[in-house]
Amino acid sequence: MVPAGADPIAHGDLTKQDFRGWEDYDGCRGVRRRKMKVVIIGSGLAGVTSAWYLRRRGHDVTVIDREPGPGRQTSFANGGLLTPGMCEPWNAPGAWKVLLGSLGRSDASLQLRMHTLPGLAGWGMSFLKNSTAAAYERHHRSNLRLSMFSLKSMQTLRDQAQIEYGRGALGSLGIFRDRDALARAEAEVAKLNGAGLACRRVSTAEALELEPALAPLADQLSGAMFYESDETGDAHRYCEALAERARDTGVEFIFGAEVSLEMHSGKVAAVIGGGKRYTADHYVVAAGSYSTLLMRQAGVRLPVRPAKGYSITFENEGERSLLGRPIIDHHLHVVIVPFTRAIRVAGTAEFAGYDRSLNPVRVRSLLSTMRDILPQGRWDESAAKPWCGLRPLSPDGVAIIGPTRIANLWVNSGQGPLGWTCAAGSAQLLTQLMSGDEPSIDPAPYSLARF
Ligand SMILES: Cc1cc2nc3c(=O)[nH]c(=O)nc-3n(C[C@H](O)[C@H](O)[C@H](O)COP(=O)(O)OP(=O)(O)OC[C@H]3O[C@@H](n4cnc5c(N)ncnc54)[C@H](O)[C@@H]3O)c2cc1C
Repeated sequence: MVPAGADPIAHGDLTKQDFRGWEDYDGCRGVRRRKMKVVIIGSGLAGVTSAWYLRRRGHDVTVIDREPGPGRQTSFANGGLLTPGMCEPWNAPGAWKVLLGSLGRSDASLQLRMHTLPGLAGWGMSFLKNSTAAAYERHHRSNLRLSMFSLKSMQTLRDQAQIEYGRGALGSLGIFRDRDALARAEAEVAKLNGAGLACRRVSTAEALELEPALAPLADQLSGAMFYESDETGDAHRYCEALAERARDTGVEFIFGAEVSLEMHSGKVAAVIGGGKRYTADHYVVAAGSYSTLLMRQAGVRLPVRPAKGYSITFENEGERSLLGRPIIDHHLHVVIVPFTRAIRVAGTAEFAGYDRSLNPVRVRSLLSTMRDILPQGRWDESAAKPWCGLRPLSPDGVAIIGPTRIANLWVNSGQGPLGWTCAAGSAQLLTQLMSGDEPSIDPAPYSLARF
């Protein structure tokens, strides 16, 4: 039991009740933590951004990663979209039928591999449970709240850190080839009205005006949604630039060290790896899909599973200048995004465990989708840079941010396909919770205790 007036987080006696809702957090307010020593595992979008905010809040921060630099895994070549416009969870009612239908098919955009079924059993049940219309709408709202908070936080972060990451702010265009799907998307946006999302339905003619490169598809389209709030940016460039600035402010980065947790008396005693032992007051696991494995070492069940995705980047100027703004093809489940010096197609989701190898069938299929959408490009295979990464996916499609049942162990993971969109908001929320500050948004929908 937490003694009256004590901070349940510091006390380490967390129950579901402690985090049931906003009101329960009142008990923590006013318990502002003084300077702490924090070790963060992971230097992707989640880890680097958390380091930035924690350091700004006055804490001593060390970031450890097994890679040789920041943003080298899932945050390396993602779709580049900061997209409140497309922040719905994957578990739309009926999504499980698509997943089961993909068993044995190697070219489906959403795919489940037979050998991963046992590892997904409990997680899969939770995914199904969260696929009702009511749950889907609730989680969509939670994602929208976090992503809008993130876009706002990004603006301040940019001003403070003065970093360049090839930001674009022209919105994005979601194209539809099916009238019913477009009507459903419009109805969903209407339900979310008032949540601050700038988004409207546009005719095919208007879509072509906004993005003339779509002209070859004109007779296939039934219209589009223009997500005006959406932004773009190169996530890897952001991780490198922000890590550099964070280092200037005193954050220590240790690369090339694969670490594990050392437990003692029900708390994390240290992080060990690369022949060294790192101690701190608090530890943050921001290790993407691998967060699950690290948490297991502390006896904490984190329902995050890897959902593999692919991208192909072309750096030729001719092809780059074809497209003015990002396109989200809702029928083919891909995004095509122009960056400052490149153009990238990204998509596909495969439940294939922790396998990070490039499957040539998936690469070819993504390339052919690119050719279908923008046939005017050369899309020369020899110039293509294929990549794949593991999205850290939670079973309700919402991030997991905050305390765990271990008093000094925290998590920032589970953003799935929205890790770039939600990076700044997630890290700021984590920092507020760890520091005992009043959170800017209700933390309950993102707490681990909801599972
Ligand atoms: C194809 C694709 C397209 C995407 N497109 C978008 C998009 O358009 N918009 C969007 O918002 N999101 C997108 N995402 C999702 C987004 O990229 C991820 O959610 C995000 O990168 C996850 O960041 P992270 O920091 O949690 O994980 P990561 O970037 O994977 O970082 C985790 C880090 O932890 C380190 N680590 C793990 N275990 C250990 C250990 N034991 N010891 C030391 N280090 C360890 C790893 O080396 C890694 O560097 C996309 C993802 C994919 C795959």
